[in-house]
Amino acid sequence: MKPTTPGIHHVTAIAGDPQRNAEFYVETLGLRFVKRTVNHDDTGTYHFYFGDGEGTPGTNITFFPWTDSGRRGQFGAGQTRDTAYQIPPDSVEYWIDRLESAGVEVDQVERFGEPVLEFDDPDGIGLEFVASEQAFEADAQPWPESPVPAEYQARGFHSVTLAVPAFGPTASVLTDVLGFELEAEADGRRRYRPAGDGSEPGSSSGPGSIVDLVETDAGRGRMGVGTVHHVAFEAADLEEQERWREAFADHGQNVTEIIDRKYFRSIYSREPGGVLFEMATTEPGFTVDEDIDDLGSGLMLPEWLESERDRIEAQLPEFDPETVGAGAGAN
Ligand code: ZN
Repeated sequence: MKPTTPGIHHVTAIAGDPQRNAEFYVETLGLRFVKRTVNHDDTGTYHFYFGDGEGTPGTNITFFPWTDSGRRGQFGAGQTRDTAYQIPPDSVEYWIDRLESAGVEVDQVERFGEPVLEFDDPDGIGLEFVASEQAFEADAQPWPESPVPAEYQARGFHSVTLAVPAFGPTASVLTDVLGFELEAEADGRRRYRPAGDGSEPGSSSGPGSIVDLVETDAGRGRMGVGTVHHVAFEAADLEEQERWREAFADHGQNVTEIIDRKYFRSIYSREPGGVLFEMATTEPGFTVDEDIDDLGSGLMLPEWLESERDRIEAQLPEFDPETVGAGAGAN
């Protein structure tokens, strides 16, 4: 049986200064600081997770903050150009005011009948807020302590927009491996969603399930500060994860072994357009090492790094979690 995915699990990008990164996502965008850990593959770098009130899959944007001395990335083919959250349709004015008051430049456009606010984070990472009826169906939990009132809070991902050299090869991974289908096309953009009407297990026409493709003439992008590192889709469990490995391999792609990422089990495979895809399991989730009330309050390390905690803490860049969110206040 072919594996199926309900859609996006998380998006991971590379930021500059960790303090500025956390303050923007928590204080300006009102997301919860769900987890503070280190990059398992580079323990001198933090790994921050920001999401909804419970760190629900499909709501989490995560960062490796390389500090401002980290190498800048360059946008180009093979990259995620925009990461879109969905917001309730009546919150557009609220968000324009809130973002502009924070000094964020906002463009408003309309796309496939939905208003879209386009803006960049402080490191130049492309973000969007899409005012969508889907927001009301989203499996996203409000965060009561957010500076953003619950009625206006972002409700998980809406979509990602991938910039690729040509539609064909990436589209074939979406349709032949991930089980998506072409839903719409306009203005040089092709929109894909998991096939099915949402009634079959694993199928979804709902939140966080959209992948848009755009073609770019730009050369291959360079990974670094201000770029997205990978997009993760949700895998039901380890059994499905094995099927995903086979599915990518059958499509002729290299794929990693299953890697324990503490909060999920992952495989990685770069699609032929250059975008790094991850499949991440739903379980065990972020409450595996912190209670729901305490999410994000400590520096969490997986067991295999705990014995090196002192050395790791000494090498991490300067970051004060106490001031993040302080005085942001509801408005
Ligand atoms: Zn990931």
